[in-house]
Amino acid sequence: MIIPLQQSDIDTDTQESKVDIMALIVQKFGGTSVADTQRIRNVANRALKTHAQGNDVVVILSAMAGVTDHLIGLANEATKTPDRRELDVLLATGEQTTAALLAMMLKGMGTKAQSLLGHQAEVVTDCEYGNARILEIGTNRIKRLLADRNIVVVAGFQGVDIKGNITTLGRGGSDTSAVAIAAALNADICEIYTDVDGIYTADPNICPRARKIKEISYDEMLNMASLGAKVLQIRSVGVAKKYNIPVHVRSSFSQEEGTMVVQEDSVMEQLVVSGVTHDLDQARITLKKVPDQPGIAAKIFSPIAESGILVDMIIQNTRAAGQTDLTFTVPRADYNRAMETQKKLAEKIGAEEVFGDPNIAKVSVIGVGMKNHSGVASLMFNALSRENINIIMISTSEIRISCIIEEKYTELAVRVLHTAFGLDKED
Ligand code: ASP
Ligand code: MG
Repeated sequence: MIIPLQQSDIDTDTQESKVDIMALIVQKFGGTSVADTQRIRNVANRALKTHAQGNDVVVILSAMAGVTDHLIGLANEATKTPDRRELDVLLATGEQTTAALLAMMLKGMGTKAQSLLGHQAEVVTDCEYGNARILEIGTNRIKRLLADRNIVVVAGFQGVDIKGNITTLGRGGSDTSAVAIAAALNADICEIYTDVDGIYTADPNICPRARKIKEISYDEMLNMASLGAKVLQIRSVGVAKKYNIPVHVRSSFSQEEGTMVVQEDSVMEQLVVSGVTHDLDQARITLKKVPDQPGIAAKIFSPIAESGILVDMIIQNTRAAGQTDLTFTVPRADYNRAMETQKKLAEKIGAEEVFGDPNIAKVSVIGVGMKNHSGVASLMFNALSRENINIIMISTSEIRISCIIEEKYTELAVRVLHTAFGLDKED
């Protein structure tokens, strides 16, 4: 799947200056960047410029903004429960449209270019329609086109299963297409062009002092899902990490540098905390005075798992007299269902009471620097305490500390943590 870079074949003595700048660059453009033909022309110009500098360029495209939603709407008009295979055939047309338009534009501008659909680019996936995973990518065709100085335009979001059926990779999947193709080609970089100019230290909508992050590690990015997921399909970060592909998240509407997502040891400026995230999609359920016996936790979580509800944090307290309290969080949309299962269960297992709260939030501080710094937790708890914000639950991992608080304090908590960890931008 991995092919060697072409530079290695070049005689460095005679072509020194060219070697310095020549690279294999994958550029991915999201829906808003290809929303109309004028914007696709901007994409063409950017790809052309990169190509003219001597680089090999592969462009991965999303569908025009709103098109995938529109197609889903049509499918739902056609039939109540659209067949999943046919739905993927339909959804793949969004990216087919933009890939063809860009390739014809580039050709019209006098460059060699060619569009490839998922199956033509040999993006082979499993058979999970609507949420397929990439198994392998055959790079021969792309390599041949690049060697012949084509700009190769690949329709993102789509692949083909081993039986030849068209599949799609899940919403936002063209990010994953781009990073996977970059990995298969052993590209120097994967640039993700979007409508925001990078990843921020906190959500700028609630934290006006949030700064754009210059460099962030893959693991931090994975932990920043609640900030980053709006920008990158989080699966793509996992692929980037696995194959060590530097990802540059940047705006297609400016020339400004965005955020580099890179390997941990190549992050220049190691901060203790790189970002503060918040997650409102949380609800808490507590079982009070549960018998403290083997098998009780299994009994509590089995019905939740069977209902397909994802449990996030779990805390079990020690209590006297053979009893214990158990608290956990679930996505807010699943709160009522989860409550029902627990109310039924409480009687059976002899728990005293079940109660919960759907109006909570999770605030987290994230940073690889935590691994070798002490006092991060106490700094976090002190900052919250100074504002009289009560911490309801705490959980930690190697590079993250999360607190559950009352939802109404979310904005305040994010801001004070942002300040406490020295992340505020200067005025
Ligand atoms: N067009 C698809 C979507 O809207 C894939 C993508 O844009 O990444 O989800
Ligand atoms: Mg997207």
